[in-house]
Amino acid sequence: MAEDRKPTTNEVGIPVSSDEHSLSVGPDGPIVLHDHYLMEQMAKFNREMIPDRQPHAKGGGAYGRFEVTHDISKYTKAAVFQPSTETEVIARFSTVAGESGSPDTWRDPRGFALKFYTSQGNYDMVGNNTPVFFVRDPLKFQHFIHSQKRRADNGLRDHDMQWDFWTLSPESAHQVAWLMGDRGIPKTWRHMNGYSSHTYMWTNAEGEKFWVKYHFKTDQGIEYFTQAEAVEMAGKDADYHRRDLFDSIEQGKHPSWTLKVQIMPFEDAKTYRLNPFDLTKVWPHADYPLHEVGTLKLDRNPTDFHSEIEQVAYSPNNLVPGIGPSPDKMLLARLISYADAHRARLGVNYNQIPVNAPKCPFHAYGKGGAMRMVKATDPVYAPNSKGGPAADPQRYPLDTGWEASGEFTRSAYTKREDDDDWSQAGALVREVMDDAARDRLVANASGHLADGVSKPVMLRAIEYWKNIDQDVGARIEKALNDK
Ligand code: NDP
Repeated sequence: MAEDRKPTTNEVGIPVSSDEHSLSVGPDGPIVLHDHYLMEQMAKFNREMIPDRQPHAKGGGAYGRFEVTHDISKYTKAAVFQPSTETEVIARFSTVAGESGSPDTWRDPRGFALKFYTSQGNYDMVGNNTPVFFVRDPLKFQHFIHSQKRRADNGLRDHDMQWDFWTLSPESAHQVAWLMGDRGIPKTWRHMNGYSSHTYMWTNAEGEKFWVKYHFKTDQGIEYFTQAEAVEMAGKDADYHRRDLFDSIEQGKHPSWTLKVQIMPFEDAKTYRLNPFDLTKVWPHADYPLHEVGTLKLDRNPTDFHSEIEQVAYSPNNLVPGIGPSPDKMLLARLISYADAHRARLGVNYNQIPVNAPKCPFHAYGKGGAMRMVKATDPVYAPNSKGGPAADPQRYPLDTGWEASGEFTRSAYTKREDDDDWSQAGALVREVMDDAARDRLVANASGHLADGVSKPVMLRAIEYWKNIDQDVGARIEKALNDK
């Protein structure tokens, strides 16, 4: 063996005598059961794969830094957003419906998840590259994802069930119009924006409360693939987006995003003309303009994709002092669901996997559980008189949040003046898209509908598009009739 090579050992450090040959009875005889090194190699191999995320299975990510460039301390006391603060971040981008080997360039929203390792604990902003979503009630989320994934009988994806769900759920219109437009297939992850989509609550040092939406605007500019380019790329390089991010960072081209926020005064939410917590709506910029906060730059690749990217676990419930949830029902369900998914997929001690562990000191009560890495110490209970950690409500008071009252009910949000399902989708199609973008929208939507959608669902889809925009709907109808 060359002098500079380290000797191979097994998992517990015992040197092995061969990398190539199993233990056998003579060179030509059978292998023996007590070749524990062979057994270790086979057994570990059999267990290498862990369950895919459900959804957002296919993705990639990188480390970087978030730097605050503008003073927004009058809106939040969160340490991560105080002037000039720099915080290490790990970002993960993903498609939603595809499995871990699926093509990066399928038409789908993209996950835009950030974990900030702040001085007050980990803060996760688990957003998407779109400012809205398909549904506004979490009871529909599981059904929605099922409709976008695979059928029970043949294991195939199916446009018929996608449009069946969408057309029976008119609240999806805004997100569907967005998805069928150019931004439905970003050219790379570097060329897309990230949005919190949800509304969050910020609290400043004086205890004043604000509602906020985050917009991470790409500094690389928005670029997209046409449907034809995306289909071609899916065949050429299914990992195109993952490769692009890794190679860019490797070549020193560090992608960056400028964080801007919309701020709504706390009291405005009570009377605003649309429900500011409805995930299918944006706050028009004219009503709530953007305030610049800082810059996110990604500059370091992972070195072990599995331990750093497959096992990174983002949880919208990781909210630090000064940042809290809003009454968005989708957000409130995600606060529970994500941590539950991580426990199921990675185990109860998933926060002790290095990529998920905080970088600030922490003093959590808790013991035991599979794969525990951090030693528990006595006392293991609170309150105690033995010098264990104690909550400090003077320094870390509860951010009081909002008030709620009423009887238990299963019902839709109370409708406001401008709360309809079609207007914002229509504004996107009519006022934001230009003629060429609208032409591509008509081609994308009619192409999607022509691919396996049954007649009754197709007729409903044409009505759905006419509700969004009469002209676009009529053009989609004509395109379908001409096919
Ligand atoms: P504005 O004219 O102020 O904003 C329109 C925004 O649309 C732009 O700022 C841009 O967002 C985004 N946009 C541009 N081209 C496309 C496209 N092809 N697909 C999707 N989004 C695009 O108008 P309003 O704020 O009044 O919003 C009008 C419509 O614009 C909304 O109904 C919504 O569909 C869409 N929109 C609005 C956003 C908001 O937060 N107000 C955010 C994104 C879209 P960006 O600058 O973030 O790239």
